[in-house]
Amino acid sequence: MQRMNRRQWLGRVGGIAFGSMAFTSCGTRPEALAEVENVSPRVADAYEPISQIDCVACDNCMPCPYGINIPDNLIFVDQARYRGYLPGELDDQDFKSKADIFFDRFCNSIPDPQQAQHCINCGQCLPMCPDHIDIPRRMAQITALTDLVRNLRCLEK
Ligand code: SF4
Ligand code: SF4
Repeated sequence: MQRMNRRQWLGRVGGIAFGSMAFTSCGTRPEALAEVENVSPRVADAYEPISQIDCVACDNCMPCPYGINIPDNLIFVDQARYRGYLPGELDDQDFKSKADIFFDRFCNSIPDPQQAQHCINCGQCLPMCPDHIDIPRRMAQITALTDLVRNLRCLEK
């Protein structure tokens, strides 16, 4: 398993403006929101909570020409929800703790070249899914979440 190190991550995001504000402060704010307020706005804005996917692992969409294990990524997300560590809204009290668990288990479960972050949105898989799952969008959602965790961890160093 190969994880992106900090230098690789910084190269990927093109230089994060550390200390830039993703959210404007007004009045009191929840603890969890305060924890992610220094995340790059581009990374924070890309994130949205991931709804139920319901991939049945039929493999009709495989192989992805770019090496992504589509069902493994999608099923991991639904299992994370079932097991209680899929993060929700950014201002949820438990966002950071769930996101940390999600990220570590995701990296341990799916080899880097097969992870959602390598999706280039070619659309080749889209017509293959009998359940009409918007696979490229789901890959983008997963990538947004893992990018957010990487960003948070860079800021902690
Ligand atoms: S849209 Fe993404 S997941 Fe689907 S075939 Fe293309 S690269 Fe693979
Ligand atoms: S075709 Fe659809 S249901 Fe089947 S493995 Fe791919 S994403 Fe899952």
